[in-house]
Amino acid sequence: MPPNRNGLVVHTSLLFDPIQKAFLENVSIHINHQTGAIVRLHHRSTPDLPSPLRKDDIDLRGKVVLPGFVDSHTHIFLSSDKERFHSHQMRDQSPIERTVRATNHARAALLAGYTTYRDLGTEALGNADASLRDCVNRGLTPGPRLFVATEALASSGGYEVRTENKLCRGSSLGLSLPRAADIADGVDGVRAAVRRRVGEGADVIKFYADYRRRVMRFPPDIPGPGGQVLFPPDRRERNPAVVLFSQEEMDAIVKEARLADVPVAAHAAETSTALMAARAGVTTVEHVFVDSAGVMGELVEELVRQKTIWVPTLATAEEGFDEGKFETCKVAVKRAFDGGVRLAAGGDAGVFNHGLNSREMEIMIEAGIPVEDVLVAGTYTGWHACGGDACGFRFGWWDEGNRADIVALETDPRKDAKALRKVSFVMKDGRVWKRDGRPVDMIAATQWPEELISMSSGPDSSDGSAGPASERASLEGPTFPLLSIRCSKNSTPAASDIGWETDSFGV
Ligand SMILES: [Zn+2]
Repeated sequence: MPPNRNGLVVHTSLLFDPIQKAFLENVSIHINHQTGAIVRLHHRSTPDLPSPLRKDDIDLRGKVVLPGFVDSHTHIFLSSDKERFHSHQMRDQSPIERTVRATNHARAALLAGYTTYRDLGTEALGNADASLRDCVNRGLTPGPRLFVATEALASSGGYEVRTENKLCRGSSLGLSLPRAADIADGVDGVRAAVRRRVGEGADVIKFYADYRRRVMRFPPDIPGPGGQVLFPPDRRERNPAVVLFSQEEMDAIVKEARLADVPVAAHAAETSTALMAARAGVTTVEHVFVDSAGVMGELVEELVRQKTIWVPTLATAEEGFDEGKFETCKVAVKRAFDGGVRLAAGGDAGVFNHGLNSREMEIMIEAGIPVEDVLVAGTYTGWHACGGDACGFRFGWWDEGNRADIVALETDPRKDAKALRKVSFVMKDGRVWKRDGRPVDMIAATQWPEELISMSSGPDSSDGSAGPASERASLEGPTFPLLSIRCSKNSTPAASDIGWETDSFGV
């Protein structure tokens, strides 16, 4: 075998292959440093390796190695709802704070093994996700490879940061709030909106096929006297999801996106709306928590027929629903899987803390979906959700030329229900970001050129405690003081303070 002069070799003893849906033994992965891509894989005849290993080679024997995880539904600019409700974040936090938080989210996700994010909307921060994506791609900050939606599309009045203090839209009467979606109506209007998103740098088009837009009819309760609607409707849900776009509009969104070779994600709380989106030919349907119309069977058939991927966001259902409704969601996803629907893992991270993304895959396993299929949902199918080859990269499985995205777990997910939380190694584009369970190289420090520090005859060199050389050494420390990732289960829900919309669950 010819030597791999520009790269390194990652040696494994147990490697998951999403294409074969199988765990393989004794595979070594050859990686090119320059391109960040896999050069080739080869099967060793024994678990043994030549001793000593080459300097840059990595021994992951004894661990479970997988392609880097793909999260198919995230919001990098949102922090946990339970720390502060998302519409309050959109209303109150400065763009700077939200951006700083997003860079922390990106680090947390990468260290949790997520080398790719399909990020579905900035939530009132315009095209900031495209800029953050570019910063990651330029190596300015660590994070998953981002495929972004910029602003989601919604019809008039469909998706907003709402307030009762607004007498007339567009006037100076009442508060002015950032827009939360690119508003578009009619076939020509939605086509124009898709063109705008593509022009602004979107990798994926997201639209709200339905949303609970009637919230202001019976506004959420406000603490204190006089803050509650005394007799809310008792014959139907107070704020049900309603359709935002006609079939013709959904069809037009997909047709226009296809002209630009961009995948389409449809937010749909209801099966009936997901059915419309699937008929339109969307790449993915998101959520689909409720089957008011009793068309789940029909939806499953349509998803299979259209090869539509379902991203069920079970992790956000767990956060927001009672046990009974959450159980219903799990049962529905399992039935769809049994019926042949392709699933991608995307939990809606941002509603809960980034870094806890693997909860989605855990719930899928708890729902009865085989571990191997869940790992496919968290890798290979995620690549398809990003548009497949149309996204410009290959990742999520093993092949020559694919991105060198590699994750290693301490334990085997077939035996340990918490294995996906035990990420000990992360490589993205051939660069190591986590090793032996610790962050590596998370901070980019300016360094003195070698020729300026090779001679040290000045007074600072006498005790070795000061001067450029020791300063450089201190900058080379491998760890970065990451903000602690707080499990949202232990957090206190933010109170609704002055009557802003608080029940717009599912973003
Ligand atoms: Zn979302």
